[in-house]
Amino acid sequence: MEFKNVPAIVTGGASGLGEGAARALAAAGCKVAIFDLQKELGEKVAADIGGIFVHCDVSSAESAEAAIATACEAHGLCGIAVNCAGIGPAARILGRNGVMPLENFSKVIQINLIGTFNILRLAAADMAQRAPNADGERGVIINTASVAAYEGQIGQAAYSASKGGVVGLTIQSARELAREGIRVNTIAPGLFMTPMMAGMPQEVQDSLAATLPFPQRLGKPEEFGMMVDQMVRNPILNGETIRLDSALRMAPR
Ligand code: NAD
Repeated sequence: MEFKNVPAIVTGGASGLGEGAARALAAAGCKVAIFDLQKELGEKVAADIGGIFVHCDVSSAESAEAAIATACEAHGLCGIAVNCAGIGPAARILGRNGVMPLENFSKVIQINLIGTFNILRLAAADMAQRAPNADGERGVIINTASVAAYEGQIGQAAYSASKGGVVGLTIQSARELAREGIRVNTIAPGLFMTPMMAGMPQEVQDSLAATLPFPQRLGKPEEFGMMVDQMVRNPILNGETIRLDSALRMAPR
């Protein structure tokens, strides 16, 4: 895919990994629309990268439909969509205060998995109307899972299940959308230093840090942005989930 002037949507782009993706896409020449709940932060990042901020709750069909229409009016039909919006509240199945309420589980699934599908389906509808490039490509969708999808993490039953769902959704939608010239891939990050990580209880942070085989620094949002850039450029990647795992990765010092 070319980047120059391609309309791109980044959910969760006001903060953390989404911000890293938004900055990378803007640097490559995309017209970036940040979809997020956090207006002040989102507007600040958008102003910084010459993009726009669109208030959007990815878990709501109405909100996502309105946001996609706003972005399309401002920039044109979406050619690149990066799903980064997500939450990761910690709660044990059998916690100190009793059994986990079902609502806790549903909320995480609603944002992380259903929110990802919500943007994916609407972005794909935009992409299918775009003219194909010389390789027959019309668009690229990148989702965000987590190594938790493969390994689990303490107090992250809902989170791990939601991210496992994102991996499955990626395989299925890549197969289904290939004929439309749309590629779908996922990045499964390990430990990255973002506000989500900083907000986790110390107990969870410690257990995550203990999974690193060597005292290495956590990933940076701009490194996530580098992987987004490569996934968009590389036409042979489709239906893949690439682990961007701080425990395995060799990072520039
Ligand atoms: P973050 O909290 O810094 O960013 C998440 C963003 O999503 C925030 O700006 C938030 O406002 C937005 N958001 C939350 N709910 C939303 C909703 N309903 N609609 C629209 N926007 C919403 O967190 P982050 O660490 O940058 O996480 C980004 C993604 O990466 C998440 O999906 C997370 O699960 C995943 N991830 C992060 C790590 C890590 O180590 N930080 C590891 C694995 C996976």
